[in-house]
Amino acid sequence: MSYKHLAFAALAFAAPVFAAPVLAPPPTLGADVQPFVSEPSGQIAITHVRIIDGTGAAPVEDATLLIDGARIGAVLPSGAPVPAGYRTIDGTGETALPGLVGMHNHLFYLQRPNLDASGRSEQPIIVPQMTFSAPRLYLAGGVTTMRTTGSVEPDTDLSLKREIDAGHLVGPHLDVTGPYLEGAGAFFIQNHLLTSPADARREVAYWAGQGVNSFKAYMNITRAELKAAIDEAHRHHLKLTGHLCSVTYPEAVALGIDNLEHGFFVNTQLDPGKQPDKCPDTAGDPTIAAMTPGSPEANALIKLLVDHHVAITSTLPVFEQSVPLHSPLQARQMAVLSQQAKESYLYLRNLTNMRAGTARGEQEAKAYKNDLGLEREFVAAGGLLMAGPDPTGNGGVIPGFGDQRELELLVEAGFSPVEAIRIGTLNGATYLGLADRIGSIAAGKNADLFLVKGNPAAKINDVENVITVFKDGVGYDSAKLLDSVKGRYGQY
Ligand SMILES: [Zn+2]
Repeated sequence: MSYKHLAFAALAFAAPVFAAPVLAPPPTLGADVQPFVSEPSGQIAITHVRIIDGTGAAPVEDATLLIDGARIGAVLPSGAPVPAGYRTIDGTGETALPGLVGMHNHLFYLQRPNLDASGRSEQPIIVPQMTFSAPRLYLAGGVTTMRTTGSVEPDTDLSLKREIDAGHLVGPHLDVTGPYLEGAGAFFIQNHLLTSPADARREVAYWAGQGVNSFKAYMNITRAELKAAIDEAHRHHLKLTGHLCSVTYPEAVALGIDNLEHGFFVNTQLDPGKQPDKCPDTAGDPTIAAMTPGSPEANALIKLLVDHHVAITSTLPVFEQSVPLHSPLQARQMAVLSQQAKESYLYLRNLTNMRAGTARGEQEAKAYKNDLGLEREFVAAGGLLMAGPDPTGNGGVIPGFGDQRELELLVEAGFSPVEAIRIGTLNGATYLGLADRIGSIAAGKNADLFLVKGNPAAKINDVENVITVFKDGVGYDSAKLLDSVKGRYGQY
């Protein structure tokens, strides 16, 4: 996978105890949130509904789901009477799923100034904040908790989290990741550039003090800087993930990293001529090409990751964008893009699709297929796989829609629909240390869940048919949220 195109594309010596600070108590909703509420908080009974609980279990048919304020009250079997005092919603023909836990979900867009039809653009590449549109898109798509997984404006993201938690703005629960921990050679310009391990430590300590929930190392970081950052994050009881390149997966495991982004796409351990602490121009392409699932190299890497409890985040939607003729073109997605974003995306989409049948196109398809197989084998070996769309790349991966697409692509990888849903819900909650409160539909957990028309256990694409998204027991109208950002994504 050509990273240049794509862009964004534990060694537990002393197992740290991680804080789980993401969820806030249910707020009183303000005037900017109220218009999107279709089901106010209260005692709600959703009757005749199919429940996919997020654990990977088979769906429960014709159940009654009780919501008591901010919590899930109970799941009653078919035929059980609705207790007195509950407001009823008829869920016939619908399915309830736990709110998605998006583990690679940015709050910015990727702009290429003066992009032309040949794919050429001018420097500097910048990533403007989507603080208005992205939270609405995520919530509309069923995402009730998300990690920002690399921030360009951490203060903005922290303010957004505070405003959402206070009920002043609409959006999911946020795990705010600190600024990209990146050295010279950054892909976009809005980065602090690390200069030393001491600098990395200072940066992590500062942002931990400001209240970020997690950290992410990026493509041009040295092993010494990464080690310093991991140790400092752990000292603050925070976890650190990486989209790496200069540091290989096995090196990062040895340094004690908690999570690796982008499945197996950005590992550089088999890139010819790989120099220590340097991101090779090949950026992992030869490694993923050589990592045939089932090969000794692949098996050894998977064992290493599982043995050290390093989670992997699957971000298939952004990689799908590099495979010719693979990603669908959907009217609902085009409707939310700004005119400029739409034009840029269609240019880049054309360039990918024109590679169908070429050597480059075949190579992208092969890398993609290898990654699908590796993600499956990682889970089969006991690894914790999580999901996130990474809404960057060519602009075709959009918050919310991308989270739904990730589930569809996990099914393409060979997971059953309910397994894919578990990866997109309970597994993320488990990593965040929040599995006792979110990630599945069970009595006592947060009423963070969503209703879709149809049956995603039989046809995973039905996750696209979102009707209502409950967060802390308040139901939001998906269509109203989408209407409010028509033509805005890419703009602000
Ligand atoms: Zn990313």
